[in-house]
Amino acid sequence: MIRTTTDAVRHGYAEQYYPTTEELKPDEMRIVALGTGRPFLRRSQANASWLIELGNGDKFIFDFGFGSQMNFTALEIPYQDITAYFCTHLHTDHVGDFGQIWVGSWAGGRLKPLEVYGPSGPEPKYGFKHFAEKQMESYAWDTESRVSALPAIGAEVNAHEFDYSKVHVIYDHNGVKITSFPAVHIYGGPVSLRLDWNGLSFVYSGDTTPSQFMIDNAQNVDVLVHETFNTVGQLMERSGYDERTARAIGTKIHSDPGEAAYVIAQCNPRLFVAFHFFNDFDTAPEMESEIREHWKGPLALATDFMTINATKEYVITRMAKVSDHVWPNKAKHKDFGKAERKPPMPMADWLREKQIFPKF
Ligand SMILES: [Zn+2]
Ligand SMILES: [Zn+2]
Repeated sequence: MIRTTTDAVRHGYAEQYYPTTEELKPDEMRIVALGTGRPFLRRSQANASWLIELGNGDKFIFDFGFGSQMNFTALEIPYQDITAYFCTHLHTDHVGDFGQIWVGSWAGGRLKPLEVYGPSGPEPKYGFKHFAEKQMESYAWDTESRVSALPAIGAEVNAHEFDYSKVHVIYDHNGVKITSFPAVHIYGGPVSLRLDWNGLSFVYSGDTTPSQFMIDNAQNVDVLVHETFNTVGQLMERSGYDERTARAIGTKIHSDPGEAAYVIAQCNPRLFVAFHFFNDFDTAPEMESEIREHWKGPLALATDFMTINATKEYVITRMAKVSDHVWPNKAKHKDFGKAERKPPMPMADWLREKQIFPKF
């Protein structure tokens, strides 16, 4: 493990990252782990999600698994400040908080449609557009019951579906390029994402077994977040799996720590961040020793609220210190009150008649 706190202080940062206290430098990238665990939810680790903040003011979220947006709230960033959301594939541990990114940012001040990007699949029903449309269809009552109180525009979702099978730029605005390339994870559809801005690069694997796509597209990147599951032994001892199931989950569907490190060694990033495993003081050493068989460079074993500041000069890693009692979106919502509403759904008389206050 790199000695993170020492490095942070040496470069003029506080030992821990206290949200709202540090302005990003114009040439700096900050990455915060919003979810790093497995498909189960536990208090210490939500499902997959990463926040990337850039010195130009843009903010992106890569994946939005269950529970991750509770961690986002704790960073005290207004929901409507997120430029766009991206997902790597349609496993619920990567997209489970879709409803929250939609309604949280809507109620929180967003006066434009939600911009969210996701991959296609081998058939339309396996693609992101289908997922987003069906999600929104299922929220019919939620949507229509809010559009009279909240700005109607905020209910809208722009679901940008891109081809999962190509290596291509899927987003190119304001000096930020985001590239998608295929991930090898069970079936067609999953992708990995690469963000390039201001000479800095960030690659996020999503879920993938070790693949040549990663080696080809993540050469010498600044920060490489690559998945690895717990070791097969840990899955058997602590998750109750038999060996066959543990091997299927830990190595055929995901990368085990040694396999991930084998790929990382060929990518040679400035920092390798391993995520997607339960990171505890008594499981981390075995994970680290398996990784170290292949990768000797800077390494961070992710847990929620790990914070990375990257510039051309340094890459530092520390933890964010957050409050449990944050009120989301405290800042005044500009033009919120003036934005157009839709007429309310008419409540039936028998319900209305029993309402004590206010009288109609
Ligand atoms: Zn997956
Ligand atoms: Zn996953």
